[in-house]
Amino acid sequence: MNDNQEQQILAAHLPGAAGMCIGCRIWWARMTPYPCCQVQWATSRQARSMTAHLLGWMR
Ligand SMILES: [Zn+2]
Repeated sequence: MNDNQEQQILAAHLPGAAGMCIGCRIWWARMTPYPCCQVQWATSRQARSMTAHLLGWMR
């Protein structure tokens, strides 16, 4: 688990036609509504690390 993995997930899992996730379709041939759980995981992790950065700057 590292920051790079989140970026890779966010880069691959994009909203496609009819609100379906492109990444899930390509990787697993699965029709998943966007944002899929992968994107939600990556964005929540990113938000947390961004908050940590901000708190670090303010100190
Ligand atoms: Zn996806």
